[in-house]
Amino acid sequence: MTSPIKLAIVGVGKIVYDQHVPAIAANAGHFTLVATASRNNTIENIPSFPTIEAMLEARPDIEAVSLCMPPQYRYAAAHKALAAGKHVFMEKPPGATLSEVADLEAFAAKQGVSLFASWHSRYAPGVQPAKAYLAANATTAMHVIWKEDVRHWHPNQDWIWQAGGLGVFDPGINALSIVTEILPSAVFLTKAALEFPENRDAPIAADLHFQDAAGIKVHAEFDWRQTGPQSWDIIVTTANGEVRLANGGARLWINGAEQQLEKEAEYPSLYQRFADIIRAGKSDVDVAPLRHVADAFMLGRRKVVDAFHD
Ligand code: NAP
Repeated sequence: MTSPIKLAIVGVGKIVYDQHVPAIAANAGHFTLVATASRNNTIENIPSFPTIEAMLEARPDIEAVSLCMPPQYRYAAAHKALAAGKHVFMEKPPGATLSEVADLEAFAAKQGVSLFASWHSRYAPGVQPAKAYLAANATTAMHVIWKEDVRHWHPNQDWIWQAGGLGVFDPGINALSIVTEILPSAVFLTKAALEFPENRDAPIAADLHFQDAAGIKVHAEFDWRQTGPQSWDIIVTTANGEVRLANGGARLWINGAEQQLEKEAEYPSLYQRFADIIRAGKSDVDVAPLRHVADAFMLGRRKVVDAFHD
């Protein structure tokens, strides 16, 4: 029996309250939450500090940190934690640029600690069964529809509309994390169009076309202006019928038959994985979803659309 890893959270906000706190409680054998560092927010009964520097100074017993602030502020905190010899879990997306994530990965290796770039949607219960089906049945095409109401899901999140906040790619990268997990071959972007509100630095919609060397075509539509029913769907055409993931991977149909799946446990699974890589002395940093987003900003046509107001 090993004792639970002493964990701290940096950047306490929506996702920490909704997912990290209950997931850490569900992994009590692996982690004990011992501190938080956040400018304004705290977690009841957990010692809190205003900055990561103050926390690391006061609590040298901390062994690992989860970084849950917006991506533009992730690198500085990650570098400080790694410099102090802590294992680091990064919320998705792992950073604002590919190069900063590569720098952190190299620094973690030098420091002899684990770095985890987490992709929660990869742990949705339909993802591994879909991946297994696609490994056995050749994919011919894929259609990704990720359309949600930004006013409902991201109220008052200014960072998400600023450069580096990714805009509609903040949810869209979840779809790309599933696509890159379930497809047996690597796809690359061939054509893209991004729609930017005239008063914002990040896109509100994106239309993306990918293919692989063998000619598999993937079409992804991301839109933040969807009211009414929300869509987080991936429909795959294979040589042996259709695979349909819905609700962000929580439900799965194969050839029209809904599959029995495990209960949803994305964040508990992430913490299980973090514990596993720490114990194994490894890192887990797959930047494929972030690379596709970077390619979209590089290759995509830019269209300016109506201003967006909360
Ligand atoms: P959030 O509530 O807007 O931000 C999290 C916390 O980060 C804030 O409460 C704030 O805490 C801190 N923060 C904000 N701006 C900062 C800055 N300039 N410098 C340092 N800290 C800052 O956002 P969130 O929804 O939790 O998302 C955080 C991350 O989790 C994002 O990368 C997002 O993509 C990811 N995520 C979110 C969801 C979701 O449903 N919301 C789902 C999955 C993943 P203090 O003011 O106390 O410092």
